[in-house]
Amino acid sequence: MRDNPITPTVDYGKNGVQHGHLRLPYSRNDSAWGSVPIPITVIRNGEGQVALFTGGNHGDEYEGPLALTHLAHTLRLEDISGTVIIVPFMNYPAFLAGTRVSPLDQGNMNRAFPGQPDGTPTQKIADYFQRSLLPMADLVLDFHSGGETLDFLPFAASHVLEASEQQARCSAARDAFNAPFSMEMREIDALGMYDEAAESLGKTFVTTELGGRGTATPETIAIARKGARNLLIHAGIMEGQMDIAPTRMLIQPDDACFHFSPEAGLIEFCHSLGDTVRQGQTLAHIWPTGHTGRAPETVTAQRDGLLTARHHPGLVSAGDCLAVLAVEIPHSLA
Ligand code: ZN
Repeated sequence: MRDNPITPTVDYGKNGVQHGHLRLPYSRNDSAWGSVPIPITVIRNGEGQVALFTGGNHGDEYEGPLALTHLAHTLRLEDISGTVIIVPFMNYPAFLAGTRVSPLDQGNMNRAFPGQPDGTPTQKIADYFQRSLLPMADLVLDFHSGGETLDFLPFAASHVLEASEQQARCSAARDAFNAPFSMEMREIDALGMYDEAAESLGKTFVTTELGGRGTATPETIAIARKGARNLLIHAGIMEGQMDIAPTRMLIQPDDACFHFSPEAGLIEFCHSLGDTVRQGQTLAHIWPTGHTGRAPETVTAQRDGLLTARHHPGLVSAGDCLAVLAVEIPHSLA
């Protein structure tokens, strides 16, 4: 396999606080020998656990970037033992454009793994994480939110994994993040995800969905900041008390949790996020936008559950993810 063309301006083995860049060469019309400088912070204080925290995997999700720019700015060397690697804007071109995928190559970072060293910019970033950053890490946190087209109940998530020891590590880390909701997640499209890349290397992996609508709120930013700090304490990198509040546990037992819009139109949601719905109840009406005098299409719940995610904004296309349900189960924090 070829070497990755990204050059870090930080030294991962060096003690101290380093704010630098991952320099991704990107030759183009307006910059012949140009590059994309992806900000990175490395804080290392001796041997110990290595945490790798990322935001901006999708460029239109803001809790991760906000929590991680704050963490990179405030975390002091004397606060930690071990290493914290912070990349607040993983798909930096997408982040700068405020879009989910990269404007350079339409690359969706979370479908680009394991990446390619001689591929597109997004594939090169994925390859760098796959072969350089992930192997160094013990604990991996990747922030997500709904972006421009979804809105979520705020949750931290782990996945069902084949290795039960690893699954226990991941769910303990998810509980340490301590979002208001905790999810054992079912992926509808796992191929190429950073999640799977980290998990298949045996890492302790936590992801989140903390809101959405292409923005962040004071509440969701506070959840993100608290979760990152809690995880550093959980990993033994930081000292102190974790800030732990009650969390509601959700699972997704089957594909009936996912509802896709049967046609384009104007959405009339009949429930708010967090509402409990019963199988057969109306989730939403989709009103036609080309005619008046016609009845809307009705979308009904395929199972009982809690409305966990919904489409945003008010217009929907055929095939868009309209609503996601999850089932609340009893949960006690260890
Ligand atoms: Zn995302």
